[in-house]
Amino acid sequence: MDVDAPVAPPEYDPFRASVRAFVAEHAPPRPEQRKAGMRTPEDAGEVAALQQWLGLLHRAGYSPLELAAGTDPWPARVAIEEIEAAGAPWRIGNPLVETALTEHGTADQQQRFLSRLRAGEDIWCQLYSEPDAGSDLASLTTRAVRDGDRYVVNGQKVWTTWAQWSDYGYLLARTDPAADKHAGITAFAIDMRQPGVEVRPLREMTGTSDFNEVFFTDAVVSVADRIGEEGQGWAIASRSLMSERSRQGSGDRDMCEQVKDLVALGTPGLVDTAGLVRLYERAHVLRLLEHTMASRAALQQETPADAPVLKTWFSTLNLDVAEEALRLLGSRSVLVEGDAGTEANGRWQDMWLYARGYTISAGSNEVMRNLIAERALGMPRDRAR
Ligand SMILES: Cc1cc2nc3c(=O)[nH]c(=O)nc-3n(C[C@H](O)[C@H](O)[C@H](O)COP(=O)(O)OP(=O)(O)OC[C@H]3O[C@@H](n4cnc5c(N)ncnc54)[C@H](O)[C@@H]3O)c2cc1C
Repeated sequence: MDVDAPVAPPEYDPFRASVRAFVAEHAPPRPEQRKAGMRTPEDAGEVAALQQWLGLLHRAGYSPLELAAGTDPWPARVAIEEIEAAGAPWRIGNPLVETALTEHGTADQQQRFLSRLRAGEDIWCQLYSEPDAGSDLASLTTRAVRDGDRYVVNGQKVWTTWAQWSDYGYLLARTDPAADKHAGITAFAIDMRQPGVEVRPLREMTGTSDFNEVFFTDAVVSVADRIGEEGQGWAIASRSLMSERSRQGSGDRDMCEQVKDLVALGTPGLVDTAGLVRLYERAHVLRLLEHTMASRAALQQETPADAPVLKTWFSTLNLDVAEEALRLLGSRSVLVEGDAGTEANGRWQDMWLYARGYTISAGSNEVMRNLIAERALGMPRDRAR
């Protein structure tokens, strides 16, 4: 198998060429080298520019989210490959709600939300995690209490990426506290621009604010914006999480190329050739995994272990590459963006600071390994869940 060859069959080459030409002409410049994680813009101007680009993409018929809604899986795949190869974004916010709306949304919800989400006109965030409900998400305590044709929401979420720029939130809340913890949860599309919703950005060690705390104080969401039936939230969220994990991968920075970059970093005496070769082996396997899983996802032939395996493989390798980079930089590893003599404007340091996050987001690696034990090896279910 040639892992550098495109995944899609050759009959999609003309479509690929047209996306490539469009992207070359219209895509925004590559983001700053320094930003190694899935970063949230720091000002409204950046958000507007991103929305403008996604609007162009959508109107030209190249929005991967819109293309993925069709019956042919390949155009979306081709568009993603071409857009990512140019280092450009193809989505804004956290579009996780898309699967939920497509599979469980009413016709009215789909009509109101989906096209605007795919065109980047509305920004969404994912309101799942709480201070006492992360891995054990089903313990969430944010309440949604029915009051006529609406629900009143009280509680707190945390680690909400993009909340500070979001128009809507994909919310999980407890509607039946008496039911089994998995059965009492319901999914909603909540308006983030209302007085009962307070967003407080968190300052991270990267110096940026990608996460937020979100507080609900008598916030309201209409019954018309409930996704699915009461009590179906857990099943809906599980499907969404599976699609989020299967999208994890090295994105626009190929890991094999990053390992090659490490060769040039070595302070004399610190280079460990055997260690670099082992990282390259793992990066090469990552490429193969991404390649295979992209085909399987496009053909809807994924197995339950696919997404957890890709997620743990990518995130542990990403962390090990970042740690090796800092080791090779030696005393230069303490320099940061803007310091004289900083390598790649602090990209490696930034990658290292962000790398732990990838081992936690979309379900921690320990929890992913529990899933692999259960789903691939048929071992007994983790008793903590
Ligand atoms: C980059 C990033 C982006 C995120 N974005 C969002 C977002 O937009 N919206 C959102 O809702 N959340 C988001 N999160 C939160 C994320 O989903 C949670 O951090 C994650 O589910 C883990 O929960 P926790 O932080 O509460 O850790 P905990 O669940 O408290 O886990 C603590 C430790 O215990 C381990 N552990 C827990 N349970 C088990 C078990 N059963 N078996 C073995 N080990 C276990 C974990 O692996 C971890 O090491 C984001 C997180 C990160 C890092």
